[in-house]
Amino acid sequence: MKLDFQRQFEEYLISQESLEPRKVGSYGVTYLSRPCLLGVYRLYTEKHPLQVEKLKLFAVGDALHLGIQEAVKRFSDLTTPIFEGRYSVKDAEGFEIVGKPDVVAYLKLNLVDSPIQCLHPVVVEIKTVNPWCFRMVKRNGVLEHHATQLQGYLHLVGSQNGFIVYIKQTDGSSLEYRFARDVEAWNTLLNRAKTLHEALLSKKTPQPNPCWFCSYCEFKGDCKHVLRKKPKA
Ligand code: SF4
Repeated sequence: MKLDFQRQFEEYLISQESLEPRKVGSYGVTYLSRPCLLGVYRLYTEKHPLQVEKLKLFAVGDALHLGIQEAVKRFSDLTTPIFEGRYSVKDAEGFEIVGKPDVVAYLKLNLVDSPIQCLHPVVVEIKTVNPWCFRMVKRNGVLEHHATQLQGYLHLVGSQNGFIVYIKQTDGSSLEYRFARDVEAWNTLLNRAKTLHEALLSKKTPQPNPCWFCSYCEFKGDCKHVLRKKPKA
């Protein structure tokens, strides 16, 4: 008898994944933070190819997330955490920006010169990464699209402070970075949402931005703009 776990695991992951195009008018912070809008446009207009290897990595990341969420709940100074809650904001032009931060929790702080305490929301975004990416972050700081993503969440939640925590997949070591809310970063996200929305309504593809992200893109197999070289860590 053979358990054949590999096949079962892959079949399970595939059964959980929708390949259908996404709904025009609702844009996730995660997608808006990607450096190339062409790939995002294609996610909204085409059935996209399935990347089983990527699904497996996400599954491993999800398992680690559960442990980290439990650690925040039991051992941090933060209180009443909400895990992967949905936050959204509607733009006057009719589209919404949505996001599900990994953790939103509250820090008790005293008002200036007062015993009265109030609760300040703090966003924590967790990234489980391979050793190559971990090394790159340690050397150069957080990846730009992760910082943009966190800024999106800070604005959706109405929080002034947030953290990005990188966990190395192979040994669980971590790096943490603190950020304050930045209006400019939100404006950048908003502009990207507008560009994407207009492109989808007019059915005109946005400009490609071939870059390091191509290696992770769902469309790298058939994109004529794809960049194949990976930067050195
Ligand atoms: S392969 Fe690269 S250039 Fe092409 S859509 Fe994806 S990220 Fe953009």
